[in-house]
Amino acid sequence: MARVVMKFGGTSVGSIERIRHVAGLVRAEREAGNEVAVLVSAMAGDTDRLVALVKEAGEHNPHLPMREYDAVVSSGEQVSSGLLALTLNASGMAARSWTGWQIPIHTTEVHGKARITDIPASALIHALTDGEVAVITGFQGVGPDGAITTLGRGGTDTSAVAIAAAIKADRCDIYTDVDGVYTTDPRIVQKAHKLDKISYEEMLEMASLGAKVLQTRSVEMAMIHRVPLRVLSSFYELGTENGGTLVCDEDEIVETQVVSGITYSRDEARVNLLQIEDKPGVASAIFGLLADANINVDMIVQNVSRSATQTNMTFTVPESELEKTLSVLTSNQDGIGYGSLSSDNNVVKVSVVGVGMRSHAGTAKTMFQALAEKGINIQVIATSEIKISVLIDEEYTELALRTLHTAYGLDAPLE
Ligand code: ADP
Ligand code: ASP
Ligand code: MG
Repeated sequence: MARVVMKFGGTSVGSIERIRHVAGLVRAEREAGNEVAVLVSAMAGDTDRLVALVKEAGEHNPHLPMREYDAVVSSGEQVSSGLLALTLNASGMAARSWTGWQIPIHTTEVHGKARITDIPASALIHALTDGEVAVITGFQGVGPDGAITTLGRGGTDTSAVAIAAAIKADRCDIYTDVDGVYTTDPRIVQKAHKLDKISYEEMLEMASLGAKVLQTRSVEMAMIHRVPLRVLSSFYELGTENGGTLVCDEDEIVETQVVSGITYSRDEARVNLLQIEDKPGVASAIFGLLADANINVDMIVQNVSRSATQTNMTFTVPESELEKTLSVLTSNQDGIGYGSLSSDNNVVKVSVVGVGMRSHAGTAKTMFQALAEKGINIQVIATSEIKISVLIDEEYTELALRTLHTAYGLDAPLE
C-alpha cells in the first residue's frame, strides 16, 4: 500500500464530465489499495474570471487590497473540491472536501503570493488512514491573522507537493493537459518532444523561466523534501500507458543533453531609467523601494551613459507588476534622482536550460548566432551556470523558440 497525492489542474476538472473522469482515476488508485489525497485547481477559466471581477471592483487601482483579492480568487478551488467530493460520494466512495484553513495549510501573510510555512497534517492523515479520500482546495492557505491567502498563479502544484511532504507521500502525481514535460511548450513548437526524466535543478530553472507546466515553488519544495514528482496527462483512458515525466535527481538520468529545454515568458516588462546620478547607493535606493513594494525585479543592466556623472539602468519586472512599478518610481523621482522613465511590455524572455552547459563551451554562441541569422535583436542578456536568457521583441517568440529548438538538436525525429 502506498500513500499518493494526485493533483488535477483547471482543464482536468473543467466540467462535470471531466470531474467524473478524474473520479475514475482516483478510484483506480483506491482500488490498488492506496491512500489518496487529491488537490484540485479551480475549473478552467474560473480564476481568470474572478481576477477580472476583482480588478473591476477595485477600479483598476494598482495598489489593490490583496486581502480581498485572495478572499475572492481562492473561491474557485472551493467549488471544484466540493464537486469532486460529491462525484466520488455519488459513485459510492468515502470522500470529503477540505479547504486550506481546515487542513490547516499555514502561510506567510503576503497576500497574492504567500509561501507555505507549515502544515500540521494529523487530522488529514487520520482521515486517510480511515480510508477516506481527501479532496483539498489547491492554491489557498491561511495567514497568521486567520485570513485566506493564495500562493500565486499556478499555486495548486505547490499545494500538492507541500501536502505530499507533510504526509510523507510515496509519490506526488501532477495530472495536467499534456502528457509530461517537453523540451519546450508543445503548443508552440510541434517538434517538441517529451522528456522521460528531468532533474529537479533543470525543472526548477525551466519553471522559473516560464514553463508553466509546474509552478516554480513546487519544484523547489520537491527538491528540498525529496518528493518523487511525476507530470502526466489526465486525458487518457484508464488502463492505457501514461508514463509521463519523472522529476528526479540528476544522477538518475543516464543521457544528458547540453540543452534540455527552452522556455519563454511573456509576463515581462522592460523598464528604463535614464540620467541617474552615478554614485554609490542609487541602485540600492531603486531596488529597495521596489522590494518594499513586493515587486520581483529580474534582469538588470546598468549602461554607461554619455555623461561621466550619469548612468542609465534597464531592468525587467513581471508585466502584471509594471503599473505598480511605474507608480512607485514616479512618486519617488526626487528621492532617487533620475531624468526620465520609459517602459515596454511587448517583450519576451527566451531561455535555454541544461545542466550540460556546466561542462560544455559554446552554448551562448549557438544561441546568439541562431537568433542573429533570423534577424532577431537581443535587448538584454542574463546567464547562470545552467541557463542563458535573452530579452527580445515579443513578436519573435515563436520564431525564436523554433529556431533555438532546431539549433540545439532537440527537434523530434520525424515519425
Ligand atoms: P494545469 O491547469 O493542469 O495546471 P497549466 O496550463 O498550468 O496546466 O500547465 C500545462 C501547460 O503548460 C501545457 O498545456 C503547456 O502548454 C504548457 N507548457 C509550457 N511549457 C511546457 C513544457 N516544457 N512542457 C509541457 N508543457 C508546457
Ligand atoms: N486556480 C489557480 C490559478 O489559475 C491555481 C492553479 O490553477 O494552480 O492560478
Ligand atoms: Mg498549472
